[in-house]
Amino acid sequence: MTGPKHSCGVVGIAATYNVVPALQKTLMIIQHRGQESAGITVFNDDGKMDILAGSGLVQVALPSNRLAELKGNSGIGHVRYPTADSKDEKNIQPFKVTTNFGAVAVAHNGEITNYDELEAKYLSAGYSFTTNSGSELVTKILSKHMSQHNDPIKAMKSMMGELEGSYALTIQIDNRIFGIRDPYGLRPLCIGEIEEGHIVVSESAAIDALNGTFIRDVAPGEIIEVMHDHFIPHKGPAHKHKANCMFEWVYFARPDSVIDEREVYDVRKRIGEILARECPADVDIIMPIPDSGRAHAIGFSIASGIPYEEGFMKNRFAERTFILPDQKERELAVSMKMNPIKSTVEGKRMVIVDDSIVRGTTLKKLISMLRKAGAKEVHVRVGSPPVIAPCYYGVDMRSREQFVANGRSNKEVCDIIGADSLGYISIEGLVEAINKPESELCLGCVSGKYPTRIPGETQRFQSKLNEEF
Ligand code: AMP
Repeated sequence: MTGPKHSCGVVGIAATYNVVPALQKTLMIIQHRGQESAGITVFNDDGKMDILAGSGLVQVALPSNRLAELKGNSGIGHVRYPTADSKDEKNIQPFKVTTNFGAVAVAHNGEITNYDELEAKYLSAGYSFTTNSGSELVTKILSKHMSQHNDPIKAMKSMMGELEGSYALTIQIDNRIFGIRDPYGLRPLCIGEIEEGHIVVSESAAIDALNGTFIRDVAPGEIIEVMHDHFIPHKGPAHKHKANCMFEWVYFARPDSVIDEREVYDVRKRIGEILARECPADVDIIMPIPDSGRAHAIGFSIASGIPYEEGFMKNRFAERTFILPDQKERELAVSMKMNPIKSTVEGKRMVIVDDSIVRGTTLKKLISMLRKAGAKEVHVRVGSPPVIAPCYYGVDMRSREQFVANGRSNKEVCDIIGADSLGYISIEGLVEAINKPESELCLGCVSGKYPTRIPGETQRFQSKLNEEF
C-alpha cells in the first residue's frame, strides 16, 4: 500500500474577516499532530486562491512576513506528521489544483487504504499524478464527479463511495469550505463557531484557543459546509458501526481536546485508574513517562493511593525519537530527551506509566537510566494493550516485526526492557475507560481486526455503507 502513512492535522475556516491569523493559530495548536510541514490556502479579494506551505514547524513553514502578504475570508490548513520515509517536499499540503469548476485545495488526515487501486483506475482513465498523496487523489476523484454532477456535495458523496480507509478532509473550492469525515469516523473532526465565522478542525482545543464555541463532532460519513454565519450538514455514506481510533485518546490527541464526546485527559486518567485495578503493584511512588504517560499515571496514583512523583526531566526541545530510522540513534536520542531526577528515584520502588509500547526502545533505555540513578524496583504499567498489528489508518505503526510484543510473552517483553514487572491495560479495560461500546472503536493495532477491508487482514464486521444519502 502506498499513499500517505501519517496522522496529520487539518482545519478549514470561513469568516467575515481575514482568516490567515486564525489559520496560523489553529495550526500551532494542533502542531502535535504533525511537525514535518505546514501549509494554508486562502481565497483572496481578487478571486484567486493563494497558497503558502513549507517544511518544518508552523513558525518556520509559515513565517510572519510571508503570512502578512496573504489575505482572504476563507481558507484551509494542514500540518503533516513526520515519518522516517516521508521527507519528500512535494507531499506538503494543502494540495492545490486548478479545475474547470474553480481552484481546489485539499488537506487530508488519514490513509486511503485502496489508494493503489484508485490510482490505477484513474491513471487508466487518463489522469496523471505528481505525488502519492491522498489529497491529490481526492482532487482527481472530485474533478471526475464534478464533471458528472456539477454540484460539489453530490460529487463528494460519490467520491466517498470510492474511497476506503480513513479520512478527515478539509476542502476549499474557490471561497467555499467543506469538512468531510470518513464513514467510520476513524480520524477526528469537529465544528465550532468563532467570532463571525465557523471552523472545522481535527481537535477541539483549537476552537478554545480561538475563543470559539465547540458545536459538535462531524458525524461519520458527514459533509459539512462552513460559512461565516452558519454551517450546512449533508448526510453522506456511513457505516452502521463506527470505528473511532482508540489511539487518539491513548496517545495522539491533546489532553484538553474532546473527541467524539470524550475528553482526552479524562479518558487517560481513567485508563490509569483501571490499570491500577487490573495490574496493581506494591511500590513507593508512581511516575509518568513525560509527557504522554502523565494523565495515565495521575489516574494510577489516585486509584492506588500511592504518591505521584515526577522522576524524569524532559528536554522539550529534543527531537522526536520515534521517527528516527536507526535503533542506535533512537536510543541515543532518548537519553538526550530524558534524564532521571535523582532524589525522586534513588532507593525507591516505583511504577512507571507510559501510554504505549511499540518497539520498546524508549522504556528499555529509560529503565536502565533509572537503575543507574539508584532505583530499587522498576515496574512498568502501560495505558494501551500490547500493540501487535499495524495501523492502516494513519498512525505510524507499520510492520509487525517492529512491535516488541508481537509473538512474545509478557515475561519475554519484560526481560527485554529490563523491568521487574510489566502490566498492560486489557482491551476490555480500555473500552471501559473510553466509555463507548467496543463496536464503535477501532482497536486494529491491539486486536488485529480491522473495520475495513485490508488485503491479508481480518475484517471485524462485514458492514455495508448505508444507502440513504
Ligand atoms: P517505543 O520506544 O517504540 O516503544 O515508543 C513508544 C513511545 O513512543 C510511546 O511511549 C509513545 O509515547 C510514543 N509513540 C507511540 N506511537 C507513536 C507514533 N505512532 N508516533 C510517535 N510516537 C509514538
